[in-house]
Amino acid sequence: MSIIVQKFGGSSVADSHHIFNVAKKIIPFYQNGYDVIVVVSAQGDTTDKLVNMASKINPQASKRELDVLLSAGEQISSSLLAMAIQSLGFPAKSLLGWQAGFKTDSVHSSAKVEKIITDRIKFEIKQKNIVIVAGFQGVNSLNDITTLGRGGSDTSAVAIAGELKADICKIYTDVDGVYTADPRLVPSARKLDSISYEEMFKLSSLGSQVLNDVSIKTAQKYGVELEVLSSLKNNSKGTVVKAYTITKRNSISGIATEKNLVKVSIGGIEDMFKFKKETISKLIEKNLIKEPELKSTSKLNSQTYDFLAEESSLQEVLNFMKKNPLSRNENFEVSYFKDKSKISVVNLEESYNLNIASIIFEALHEINVNIEMTACDNDHVSVVIKSTDLYRSVNLIHNKLFEEDYLL
Ligand code: ADP
Ligand code: ASP
Ligand code: MG
Repeated sequence: MSIIVQKFGGSSVADSHHIFNVAKKIIPFYQNGYDVIVVVSAQGDTTDKLVNMASKINPQASKRELDVLLSAGEQISSSLLAMAIQSLGFPAKSLLGWQAGFKTDSVHSSAKVEKIITDRIKFEIKQKNIVIVAGFQGVNSLNDITTLGRGGSDTSAVAIAGELKADICKIYTDVDGVYTADPRLVPSARKLDSISYEEMFKLSSLGSQVLNDVSIKTAQKYGVELEVLSSLKNNSKGTVVKAYTITKRNSISGIATEKNLVKVSIGGIEDMFKFKKETISKLIEKNLIKEPELKSTSKLNSQTYDFLAEESSLQEVLNFMKKNPLSRNENFEVSYFKDKSKISVVNLEESYNLNIASIIFEALHEINVNIEMTACDNDHVSVVIKSTDLYRSVNLIHNKLFEEDYLL
């Protein structure tokens, strides 16, 4: 029997109308004899609302309790979807992460799936049920609830597809595929027919929200081919994410953007070597520094260090700095500048990246946009700018790199 895994994101199950729309995308596969496993995210912006709710009670809430709270979003959507399918006359059963056998490590808020014990899913399939799995969650060795990091339902879906050796894995979302840039930000972005795991991983890890980066590594590990497609359009082809194949397109894979970033500037560092070794490396380990390779473009004196962080983790960064023994030095000073955005151009062909960097710099100079930080690595070029400059900057860069038939 052929197995299909379908994943529906938050906007695809946002309300009852959308839930019935999703049910109607699932049932035809079941009618055609497929074993169907569906993974769902929380409805709409439920997860953000839950985060907000927690911050009103305790802004420093423990990650363990946050995981218990945030997992509730997927509990709601999975049960509602099962009810919708049942009301249309088909058998469905919802399973929470722990019931579906998701065993993870204990890193609350960004847990890694260690294994999936698929017995229960297989049992329900045998009973001819459509199985609806709550994405984004699992349990650790203590049976405490863990979550897989934002966007983690993608990983849940891919991991199930990998474990069950599914024939098809479809990730339905609110756009009809992967584009050369976020189509909501760059109206002229082009849809790609296919993209390799490596390119997609780089785009995702640099901020392309369309797929979670861990899900791509998981897909690559299991050799699962994914199709990213729209939950709203019918019979439209999406973008296939798969092992590398030679394509005729531009060697640039795409442009990733990230908003809500903050530039943190540390002054009065007396021993830079020690600071990097003892403080910066720990922040990197804790995943609190965005793209550690980024360097400030302003002239810094030898006692200053700048880095980029997510606004949502600023408090954690500041708390960490306060506890730092080096902060006892009376000149030690922490300042921060919010509303920064990052634009990253992904190109896995290392030799072209200096070229790309100079095109970006010239373009932003043309429109008087100040570049605050940059990185030019073997697989991408990034620039940090003010968020108010993001829209015009990314559109101009996209135009220069994709529309002027610029041949690298
Ligand atoms: P879901 O809730 O279905 O998981 P997400 O919001 O996580 O959906 O991801 C879909 C969004 O990703 C789109 O609405 C789009 O704005 C954004 N996005 C960012 N970069 C890209 C890209 N290169 N191609 C397509 N969509 C992108
Ligand atoms: N609901 C979670 C989030 O908003 C997981 C997901 O959507 O994949 O991040
Ligand atoms: Mg998502």
